[in-house]
Amino acid sequence: MQNQADEVTVNQTRLRLVQGDITRQTSDAIVNAANSSLMGGGGVDGAIHRAGGPAILDECKQIVSRQGRLATGKAVITTGGNLRAKHVIHTVGPVWHGGSQGEPELLSSAYRESLKLAAENNLSSLAFPSISTGVYGYPVNEAARVAINTVTAFLSRGTTSIKEVAFVLFDARTFAAYASALREAAEETGLS
Ligand code: ADP
Repeated sequence: MQNQADEVTVNQTRLRLVQGDITRQTSDAIVNAANSSLMGGGGVDGAIHRAGGPAILDECKQIVSRQGRLATGKAVITTGGNLRAKHVIHTVGPVWHGGSQGEPELLSSAYRESLKLAAENNLSSLAFPSISTGVYGYPVNEAARVAINTVTAFLSRGTTSIKEVAFVLFDARTFAAYASALREAAEETGLS
């Protein structure tokens, strides 16, 4: 893992942190911190549906009528509608209940299942928001550690179509939490 301030390379995949609005990203897919109904909501979910238009919700409805609600930790893929990103990967992070209800494993699963889906669809770039740290109340420093460790572990395990993963963090505090988790991970792995 090669380390700069807010960017590392893991197994030839660039992993970078940016502060900004995920709906404006040009990656092949952006990830939505959805809820199990897939019917849209507040926060980043609402912003993605507003910017992407009704085609995304149409496809979400079809998915739910086929397979039911999306379980926490799982992911599905739809069109990106009017977004610059061609696809949206919808995943459901855990609601924070104090940390002993499987929250870290469920959060890790949300990241892992999203990455798997991107690789299965042969995508080369992917952007994540900070899943679960808004309305779902997951403490941001802990969530950042889970997010960074899960993504770097996934990328270390083998080569996939994915050449770039970005975390697009909405505010300075969230960005700082991810920057610190990334520095820690780079130090721990001892790679350069
Ligand atoms: P959750 O329900 O999973 O907690 P939220 O949407 O409430 O999801 O919050 C997750 C994170 O997404 C928060 O850090 C929030 O500030 C951030 N967020 C909200 N809008 C956007 C956006 N347009 N782009 C990127 N991140 C966003």
